[in-house]
Amino acid sequence: MRCVVDWHVHSRYSRACSKQLELPAIAAWCARKGINVVATGDWTHPGWFAHLKEHLVESEPGLYRLKPSSIPADAPGSRVRFMLGTELSQIYKRGGKVRRVHNLVFAPSLETVERVNAELARRNFNLKSDGRPILGIDSEDLYKLLKDIDERIILVPAHAWTPWYAVFGSKSGFDSLEECFGEMTPYVYAIETGLSSDPKMNWRLSGLDRVVLISNSDAHSLHNLGREANVMEVRAFSYDAFVRILRERDREAFLYTIEFFPEEGKYHLDGCAACRFSCSPWESKHLEFRCPTCKRPLTLGVEHRVETLADRPSEAVARQKIPYRSIVPLEEIIAEAFGVGVGSKRVRQEYLRLTGRVANEFDLLLETPLETITAEASDPAVAEAISRVRAGRLHIAPGYDGIYGTVQIFGEGDLPAKPAQQTLL
Ligand SMILES: [Zn+2]
Ligand SMILES: [Zn+2]
Repeated sequence: MRCVVDWHVHSRYSRACSKQLELPAIAAWCARKGINVVATGDWTHPGWFAHLKEHLVESEPGLYRLKPSSIPADAPGSRVRFMLGTELSQIYKRGGKVRRVHNLVFAPSLETVERVNAELARRNFNLKSDGRPILGIDSEDLYKLLKDIDERIILVPAHAWTPWYAVFGSKSGFDSLEECFGEMTPYVYAIETGLSSDPKMNWRLSGLDRVVLISNSDAHSLHNLGREANVMEVRAFSYDAFVRILRERDREAFLYTIEFFPEEGKYHLDGCAACRFSCSPWESKHLEFRCPTCKRPLTLGVEHRVETLADRPSEAVARQKIPYRSIVPLEEIIAEAFGVGVGSKRVRQEYLRLTGRVANEFDLLLETPLETITAEASDPAVAEAISRVRAGRLHIAPGYDGIYGTVQIFGEGDLPAKPAQQTLL
């Protein structure tokens, strides 16, 4: 069975996250997005863990679904599977430097989660203040501790390239997985590429040939679920089946990842947000890595770090790698087609109508015939915009220093002609 997996989301208990992020709503939105398997997020948080125990029941070994009392049996979200995945923030010293690394941790059962949480609480880590808690523990030591509790637990470095909190981050990361994970490196089966990098950029590092690249949403709200995702062909559903695909880098099962255009991510280029300045890695070298206006150090983005650590062109290995497809979120496409802001009511209405009546978001973006979309959309520009994104015909002003990139699908004077009735009004 083909399934779409999003392994990194947050709950209402994580900082800066929507209060709507509760399991029944997450399941309903996964159905709308086309996500079949989603991480629970935040399982170290006592409030969220109680919510998981209240609403989830094991459906296949190591996978969970909502109890019938939590969602009507015929609701689309009732078929969504949950995997126990969370994010932990490690801040510690290693090699004489302060390191800040975010890691995703997956567990095979609620019982294992309970034991991990008890052990972390015993060590006096504060699990209550945030769904993504800060643990002052070395990433290698953390992974050892988790494996001692249950050897089926796996750890995956999150958004591996972002400057501030990532294994390869320019501010407080490492230059290789070995440097960060030491003896535990062989058990790091995957890294999350993050929104600001795509697989092609990661292929440039021979050091990453031994891991598989995964892509997830890191959603802080319902409508950001599935911003990026993984598409798999899985015969029998189970926690171990997914871990095996990662461990063996099984290209028969792992069909492709769904990606943001990396320029859209908020740390793609180098820059200074305060001065609204961004530049390429080459330009920032020329500027001696300082903002030309305020003279403070530039935040070096993902492209810069990849450029620094890369040891080959990506083309050399493309054919041996798991492929990917690039998308722009449907709400952004509709906003562009309508020429209005992405948060506007009209965009939301059209989004809900199309995903309710025609197909889920991933199908609309990648598969649904354009004629079908033209027939159903309230404006022909929506189908035209989707067709342009599918063909990669768009312009993106790249993100930098915490500011998201902005997508432009239609250039000046490039909007498709409206039907006569509408232009007459
Ligand atoms: Zn993170
Ligand atoms: Zn500046």
